[in-house]
Amino acid sequence: MSAQIIDGKTIAKELRAELKTEVEGLKEEHGITPGLAVVLVGEDAASQVYVRNKHRACKRAGIATRDLRLEADATHEEVMNVVRELNADPDIHGILVQLPLPDQVDEEEILNAIDPNKDVDGFHPVNMGLLLAGQPSFVACTPKGVMHMIDTLGIDLTGKEAVIVGRSNIVGKPQALLLLYKHCTVTICHSRTKDLAEHCRNADVLVAAVGRAKMITGDMIKPGATVIDVGINRTEDGSLVGGVDFAAAVEVAGEITPVPGGVGPMTIAMLLRNTVDAARASAGL
Ligand code: NDP
Repeated sequence: MSAQIIDGKTIAKELRAELKTEVEGLKEEHGITPGLAVVLVGEDAASQVYVRNKHRACKRAGIATRDLRLEADATHEEVMNVVRELNADPDIHGILVQLPLPDQVDEEEILNAIDPNKDVDGFHPVNMGLLLAGQPSFVACTPKGVMHMIDTLGIDLTGKEAVIVGRSNIVGKPQALLLLYKHCTVTICHSRTKDLAEHCRNADVLVAAVGRAKMITGDMIKPGATVIDVGINRTEDGSLVGGVDFAAAVEVAGEITPVPGGVGPMTIAMLLRNTVDAARASAGL
């Protein structure tokens, strides 16, 4: 039996339409136009595509964007100065520094310098700490988007075994907390995990956030499981594939996200959500 394909594009489109209406309301009733600044350092091809998509999605939703580009050899201090200026700019409610940054720029210091109230990526330690404490915060867009997807499907997570493959700050760790708050029993796997397959086979909800193409094979999936594939890997022929072997997994899972068209569009929709929330909060709404 073939799994239900989770259509991230459609779910994200609905979310963006709701946000557009909300942004129009903010403009008309409160005179606020949410503003997002995107900082891109260097010429990385994938980053340029991501940044272009983010600007386009903002524009369609009525969110103002500012495009800040620095040369690949920009110094740490130059990037820091851009962040400081954006922190002080009242028209900018959200700041996103596109990763990865060149080696001469200290990524951690730059992310830590972003005003936590404008940290729409949710990467600042203050926001990560608030999430850990179970308090309101900006939550990283990808795991937040995954939760919205699961919610839209109407899946009750209470008591479910959730397994996350990957423990990064931007996906794996926040994903684990969000699933924990929905009363899952959570296991986090990583490169040192013994018998990854055995853990995965136990998962009612499996989130693959691992930067390796098709690493999760069909025999690692519990029949009927919800499989969320966060991975984006470019193959030699230029096509995009996830961390899950989709063709095999679709025969076993209950629901599964495709790549592309699954988690990716949700990440951008959540960036817009966080930017609108930041604009609201700045006006005390
Ligand atoms: P990272 O490289 O930071 O983390 C990858 C994780 O996978 C690490 O925790 C690593 O373990 C684990 N891992 C690597 N190899 C194995 C293995 N053999 N067995 C088990 N675990 C393993 O990646 P990110 O979290 O930033 O991203 C993960 C994927 O998601 C990437 O493909 C990325 O492109 C994609 N992505 C997609 C987004 C979207 O919008 N759809 C947004 C963000 C990311 P360890 O910690 O031990 O090294």
